[in-house]
Amino acid sequence: MIRKAVRRTGLAFLLTLAAFAGHPGSAELSAEPVVTASGARIAGDQARTRFVFDLSEAVEMTVFSLADPYRIVIDLPPLRFSFDQGTNSLGRGLIARWRYGQFSSEGSRLILDLAGPASVDRSFVLPAQNGQPARLVVDLLKTTPDAFRAVAAAASVRAASQAQRIRKTDRLPVGAGRRVRPLIVLDPGHGGVDTGAVGRKRIPEKTIVLDFSSMLKHKLEETGEFEVKMTRTEDVFVRLKDRVDFARRLEADLMISIHADSVRQRSVKGASVYTLSDRASDAISAELAEGETRSEVLAGLHIADATEEVSDILLDLTRRETTNFSIHAKRQVVTSMGKSIPLVNNPMRSAAFRVLRAPDVPSILVELGFLSNRDDEKRLLTAEWRERAADAIVHSLQTFFAARLAKSSEQSEPKVE
Ligand SMILES: [Zn+2]
Repeated sequence: MIRKAVRRTGLAFLLTLAAFAGHPGSAELSAEPVVTASGARIAGDQARTRFVFDLSEAVEMTVFSLADPYRIVIDLPPLRFSFDQGTNSLGRGLIARWRYGQFSSEGSRLILDLAGPASVDRSFVLPAQNGQPARLVVDLLKTTPDAFRAVAAAASVRAASQAQRIRKTDRLPVGAGRRVRPLIVLDPGHGGVDTGAVGRKRIPEKTIVLDFSSMLKHKLEETGEFEVKMTRTEDVFVRLKDRVDFARRLEADLMISIHADSVRQRSVKGASVYTLSDRASDAISAELAEGETRSEVLAGLHIADATEEVSDILLDLTRRETTNFSIHAKRQVVTSMGKSIPLVNNPMRSAAFRVLRAPDVPSILVELGFLSNRDDEKRLLTAEWRERAADAIVHSLQTFFAARLAKSSEQSEPKVE
C-alpha cells in the first residue's frame, strides 16, 4: 500500500526542539505538531465496527491490543487535535468509548476502549486525495475472549507488515505533493543470443519488446507517478532468475514482463496477460515454508526477532498479498488494453512462467500479440499501435495504483466514509 512518508513530522519536531534548546528557562517545551486531527467517526454494530479518524495528512501508525480491560491502542506521531473530545468520545458497536492524547513528547495515542473482545481485522491510512482528508481506518471484528490473545498477535503482525511497507516506500523518491511513487520493473523478454520469436519480417521478439518497454518506461515516467527500472536496456542475454532477483532486490511494487511470442496455431492473435498459475503458486508457498527462500523473504520484511509462528503468518500474508495484487493488476491491464487494442479470447491467463515466480513481488506477463500471426506482426511493428498499447498500460497502472490506495490486502474493501 502506498503511503506518504512521515519523516517530515519527526524532523520538524527535532528542529523545534533544537530551537528551544537555547532557552532552558522556557516552561513549555512544546513542538507544534505538523499534522492535525480534525474529526472521528464510528460506524457499524456489535459484530463489526469501523473507526475513522480524519487527518491533515497520512501518518505512520502502530496498532496493538491490550487485555484487562479490552483495548485497542493506536500509536501515532505528535498530532494537533482540532476538535472537542467531549463530542467525539462516545463509542458505538464494539467500541464503548475512545480517548486520545499526547502520551509522550514524540507521539500521540488513541485508545479505543472495547465493549468486549474484538480483533483488528484491518488497519490502514489513506492519504489525502480528491479534496478528502487523510483517513486512518481501523476495522474491528467481534471475537471470543480466548481468541483475543491469538488475534492480538496477528494484529501486531499486520502492523509490522504495514510498518515494513512504509519503510519500503520511504526509500523511493518522493514526487510532487509528497506522494510516494510506486516502483515498476519492466522486463523486456529474451535478448542477446535468445532472440525469442521471429516473424515473417524477421524482426525478432527481443527487439520489439525492448523497443516497446523503452517507450512504456518513458510514458510511465512522464506521468510523474511512477519510478521505472528495466531488467535490460540493451540487446543482452539475461537469465530468468536474474530478472526476478532484480525486481526482488529493488522491492518493486510490480514487475511487468513484456513478450510477443509465437504459437503453432497461426490464427491466434491479440494481446493477453498472465499471472502465475495456482499450481505453481502453491508450489512456491510450499517452498517458502522452509529453506533459503524463506529466510530471504523474511529478511526482506525487516522484522527483527519474529517467532516461528509470527514468521509463518507474515509469509502467508506476503504470499496472499502478492497473489491478489498480481491478479488485480492483470484484470486492470486487460480491461484497459481491451478498450484500445485487440485481445485474444480469454485474455486473462495463468501459466507457470519462471519470471512470475517472485514470492514477494507482484508480477504479470504481457503478451503484446503473436509474431506467428500476420496481423499481429503488422500491428506490433506499427508506431501507432505501440502508442495505443503503451498508453493503455500506463492508464491501467494509474487506475490500479490509485485504487490500491483505497484497498487493503483483502479482495474487497467497503467504501470509506
Ligand atoms: Zn517471449
